[in-house]
Amino acid sequence: MPVSPLPAIYETLTAELRELLPDRSGVIDAHTHLGADEDGQTLELASLIAMLDELDPAAHACVFPLHDPQRRPAYRTPNDRVLAWAAQAEGRLFPFCRLDPADHAVAEGERCLALGARGIKLHPRAQAFGFETPAARAIFELAGEARVPILIHAGRGMPPMDPLADLALRYPEVVLILAHGAIADQGMFATRLAGHPSIYYDTSCFSAVDLIELFARVPAERIVFASDPPYGRPLGGLHQALRVAAYAGLDHAERAALAGGTIRAVLERRPPATPSPPRVAQIRPASGRLRRVEGYLLMGLGAVSAGGPPLVAARALPAVALARAACRDPEPGTVGAELERIDALLAGAEELIGRDGDAGRPAFGLLLAAATIAATAPV
Ligand SMILES: [Zn+2]
Repeated sequence: MPVSPLPAIYETLTAELRELLPDRSGVIDAHTHLGADEDGQTLELASLIAMLDELDPAAHACVFPLHDPQRRPAYRTPNDRVLAWAAQAEGRLFPFCRLDPADHAVAEGERCLALGARGIKLHPRAQAFGFETPAARAIFELAGEARVPILIHAGRGMPPMDPLADLALRYPEVVLILAHGAIADQGMFATRLAGHPSIYYDTSCFSAVDLIELFARVPAERIVFASDPPYGRPLGGLHQALRVAAYAGLDHAERAALAGGTIRAVLERRPPATPSPPRVAQIRPASGRLRRVEGYLLMGLGAVSAGGPPLVAARALPAVALARAACRDPEPGTVGAELERIDALLAGAEELIGRDGDAGRPAFGLLLAAATIAATAPV
């Protein structure tokens, strides 16, 4: 589906992005998809490039197939499409191949790497596999020999992921990127892989709280920006990642590394930066007023996404009304500016939903941005 133009209210977010990262030419979105998914989502090359252009005309992305209905045999057809699209994209895209451990994964991986794939994507929920198998080990060995990263889904819908941590510890030379802030087992990964030399976490999370907690648990040098289109959008994803990074105290150079420098070093096989202690305190002060707003917004986002795609933005309206009520405070304390800004974003979301049911999803992006602002405002 074509990417819908962003409504004017997004200017407040793009203006903030310009402040948080004045030079966005080095941005690389570490997690994007092209093609079609069994769940009905699709994304075309021109749409992905248009979304990256919203960040910067030189912004890049790592890209791989979706859970494509034409994935058999061996994901060959979707992998070939992604390689072809990357070849058409004038260097903007780094293609990864998606592998199914149960379907000739090593042969397909070797074929794609020979054709220029820069990494491997595994989705243990969609492809329904575990990591305690010879097939999973064979993929790790392939990645280790080829010195390419493996990006692994570690988000919604996973059982405990200890077997992946076991495998990572067995192959410490293999670079892993755990997707979605590793929310499926964030505490376990952060603890067990604290000494692992080449573990990275991508930032594609709905809730900024998951991302803030990631900065409280792992080194900032191991966190890479990602937005997961077609499910997320690079502009909103980068806004969230950089707001959280600023909250965590990252300076300009560190934010540039998060936005693209760190993943570029991985793709170029440069040694990882020396990790520093986590940047966010594990116990942190919060504004009660903003916590109420954030709670309602997370309820609203849950209602929108309940039952999986497609998102139905109108389901958020009751919770948005409560969040706006919490923003109307005659005594806002130290967070008056944030409450006002959030209220304006939510008014914009209500208007979009009322107008067209938010077919293009920008209202959903406004709710995410509002929740991110609530979670990251200095108090
Ligand atoms: Zn994804």
